[in-house]
Amino acid sequence: MAWRFALVIDPAASDDPRTDFSGTLTPIDVTAPALSVGEMSTQRGDGIFESIGVVDRHAQEVGPHLERLAHSARLCDLPAPHLEQWRQAIAVAEEHCPPRGEGVIKLILSRGVEHGPTPTAWVTAAEAPDNSAARERGIKVVTLDRGYGIDTPARAPWLLLGAKTLSYAVNMAAIREAKRRGADDAVFVTSDGFVLEAPTASLILRIAGRFVTPAPNGGILHGTTQLSLFAHLEEQGAQTAYETIPLSALAQADAAWLVSSVRLAAPIRAIDGRELAVDGELTASFNGYLLTPRD
Ligand code: PLP
Repeated sequence: MAWRFALVIDPAASDDPRTDFSGTLTPIDVTAPALSVGEMSTQRGDGIFESIGVVDRHAQEVGPHLERLAHSARLCDLPAPHLEQWRQAIAVAEEHCPPRGEGVIKLILSRGVEHGPTPTAWVTAAEAPDNSAARERGIKVVTLDRGYGIDTPARAPWLLLGAKTLSYAVNMAAIREAKRRGADDAVFVTSDGFVLEAPTASLILRIAGRFVTPAPNGGILHGTTQLSLFAHLEEQGAQTAYETIPLSALAQADAAWLVSSVRLAAPIRAIDGRELAVDGELTASFNGYLLTPRD
């Protein structure tokens, strides 16, 4: 990631009545050390984050990303973020993204330093990697056991399955395993055989002309890209649905995508070695929509 900018936030309480938070946002040198050695984010992965896609210096879907940040904070018992303060931090970071083309803004809220001031919060801006190959040629995926059942999130909320926590070591390990198996990415499946999500993206299937995605109560993140694409598809009269999807339904899909804020819509061209046709025209229209600056 080519980092261009970072700022540290002095987090305000969520009911702070101020309207101007510029005095709480401190730019820092992206090439210099910035965190205390006692930081829980680095010691334990104890914190949450968001990655926001940026197009021509416009951060996409800021509202849904901030809502998900607040949701993750609730699940992790972190102090509620002051959304206007974060909005202003994002506006500062936007100015440091590439003037034309794609960037990434990351929001990070950590539990902070043990016995110290809490939480720690910062925002970064970077150039986005080139994702054109995945968007145009598509990706091969393999299904991987996520190691828990569809009812685990309700029985064990301390697993934080619906929160976007900083602990992505498992997600990265799954992508490495997918590559070892000759694929580009993974789709997690519960041990009792239901389809979930990819390690860094949501899954959308087209089955009999309807667009279907796994219901977010199954311990997955509710993707902002999937939400936005569903709203766009519905506006165009398409049918969309959240469902509990058995593994066997993958064979019924005539097209499928992994969608996320930075890679956007990557069409799936093979699942577990079975080829799937790529709908190039529809995928291009998805990415055209996702690359149009929108709030
Ligand atoms: N699911 C997981 C586990 C993710 O990490 C991500 C994004 O990073 C997504 C889904 C897609 O979310 P979004 O569309 O908001 O980027």
